[in-house]
Amino acid sequence: MARLGSWIESHPEGIYVRPADAWIDPSQPKTRAWVTHGHGDHARGGHGAVLATAETLAIMEVRYGPQSGQPIAYDETIRVGDVDVRYVPAGHVLGSAQIVMEHKGERIVVSGDYKRRPDPTCPCFVPVPCDVFITEATFGLPVFRHPETGSEIDRLLHRLHADPSRCVLVGAYALGKAQRIICELRARGHHAPIYFHGAIERLNQLYQSFGVELGELRHTGGATKAEMAGHIVIAPPGALNDRWSRRLPDPVTAMASGWMRIRQRARQRNVELPLVISDHADWDELTMTIRELEPTEVWITHGREEALKHWCMTHQIKACELNLVGYEDEDD
Ligand SMILES: [Zn+2]
Ligand SMILES: [Zn+2]
Repeated sequence: MARLGSWIESHPEGIYVRPADAWIDPSQPKTRAWVTHGHGDHARGGHGAVLATAETLAIMEVRYGPQSGQPIAYDETIRVGDVDVRYVPAGHVLGSAQIVMEHKGERIVVSGDYKRRPDPTCPCFVPVPCDVFITEATFGLPVFRHPETGSEIDRLLHRLHADPSRCVLVGAYALGKAQRIICELRARGHHAPIYFHGAIERLNQLYQSFGVELGELRHTGGATKAEMAGHIVIAPPGALNDRWSRRLPDPVTAMASGWMRIRQRARQRNVELPLVISDHADWDELTMTIRELEPTEVWITHGREEALKHWCMTHQIKACELNLVGYEDEDD
């Protein structure tokens, strides 16, 4: 255990907020958990009371069944123990939040996972200046610079139209990325039906129930090869090389992930069309955010910590790594 500030502790299973007796995104069941967003490595089942946005609670219910959850709206402030806590948008996935905490005149912000570029499925990241910024660093290396999303979507559409006898199978994380890709396609004028793997159906419905427009979607089950030719099919990354894909008409295999920047990762999954589309901040977004928030200290939770820590130190900002376990963003 490391005592960090005067009132926050870092443990392998999560960040503990002592004056509120609460844990942030704990990897073990806790009596009181504050959850930033619905991805499985941050939102786990089995907690006592969960404080999260209504969207995140709904996602947790899809995954783990009924929660004893208390919904908190963006920008609402509540007092827990001796801490004022507020959730503000993180721009990562539907319902994702940063957690802003104030105690005895000190403000600490936990970013959760975040990105700065626009995402049609959730509100944009809101910068909150703070004393201590606890940030993720999934893509915390200068080599990670994500291209414009629109140009990646155009590459996808170009490939689709190049051969109408084939389909393009896009591997995308089931929560967030899949729905974002669908919305980005709609924004680029693609209004044809989009086929989906059954594993993302409930999350598609959940997004729609929160008002995210996904257009016409069709289940691949029951569709013929001929019907799916010339169409886009969205599936979780695990289904790309699965026998399930044999039902598709000669698929061009694509994958939408920040990791597609690394050619070897694309090859490992037999990805023919790598699309560099991420729900995490790239190097420029991470450093731009730290510049903007002007914290006195930065604590780095997960990802590639070393380079970001070094960057902070060369910019006269104290920085340290928290050794939390259980976070993975491999499928981003
Ligand atoms: Zn996440
Ligand atoms: Zn994460």
